[in-house]
Amino acid sequence: MKGQLIIGENEVIDDLDYRVKTAIKRLKTFEPKDGYYLAFSGGKDSIVIYALAQMAGVKFDSHYAITTVDPPELTRFIKKYYPSVERIRPEINMWDLIVKKKMPPTRRVRYCCSTLKEGGGNQRTIITGVRWDESSRRKNTRKDVEYDTYGSQSKVAKEKRESFYLLNDNDEKRRMIESCVVKGKHIINPIIDWTDSHVWQFIKQYNIAYCELYDQGHKRLGCLGCQLQGKNIVNDFYMYPYVYVQYLKAFTRMIKARNDEGLVTEWNTAHDVMQWWITMTDKEYIDFTVKLKEIMIQNNKKRYIKYLYQEREE
Ligand code: SF4
Repeated sequence: MKGQLIIGENEVIDDLDYRVKTAIKRLKTFEPKDGYYLAFSGGKDSIVIYALAQMAGVKFDSHYAITTVDPPELTRFIKKYYPSVERIRPEINMWDLIVKKKMPPTRRVRYCCSTLKEGGGNQRTIITGVRWDESSRRKNTRKDVEYDTYGSQSKVAKEKRESFYLLNDNDEKRRMIESCVVKGKHIINPIIDWTDSHVWQFIKQYNIAYCELYDQGHKRLGCLGCQLQGKNIVNDFYMYPYVYVQYLKAFTRMIKARNDEGLVTEWNTAHDVMQWWITMTDKEYIDFTVKLKEIMIQNNKKRYIKYLYQEREE
């Protein structure tokens, strides 16, 4: 089949070369005078946009927002393979942020993203690795080029964000994008129409190094304990028990902060918060902590075991 790449038994990639050329064309078309701000996460999508920006020959600087709950394998990978990527430290870490907000971040109240991840790139044209493939919600809301005259990721800014398609070569629209270099962010998503298969084929075809966590079965890389991963959150705690302990410590301080301010709370202990946060029944939570204890023993992390029982036996 000319123009198609066969990946698996039933999987065919249609015209990867065409998609690469299209992505490069997008990057070249909208290259700003001051160069792009490449939002780098170290994940598979961002290593692809990094490579495409290099192939396009466009000017760009890349930035990684440290969230303080980053997988250590990911930060090591970025340091080793992308030493020129600027690592931006947030003014507050996740643990202090939880105490400050007096509630844990949830799927609906993702205050940590706006504080820890999405602060950079004001007044710049940002390249992201956002893809329609990632979620059906994004497919309906993200475009290949977006601009945000409000310069933020706030609710108002997102509601006011306007967008363009590159599907036709409308000169008038191109000029409009170029003339919008005023306040705020412009966002270009050059691989928005790529699937996971396109991404992996590109990585393999161009022999691009990727984070080892993918070979360990991780589908997506990101913050440890992120609520967006649903039930899979427990796998982060099995793999990194210290992160579970850090969240417990933060929840203890958070409850104190709530009590100090006289806020109504039904949580008495950090475990109450944790059990609610990871949506487990009493039995599920007991089973979870039993498994965690076994893992701590196996991995020689016995020093964390006391936190499994702290406050629960009082
Ligand atoms: S934990 Fe999840 S919601 Fe919070 S900053 Fe990280 S990705 Fe965003």
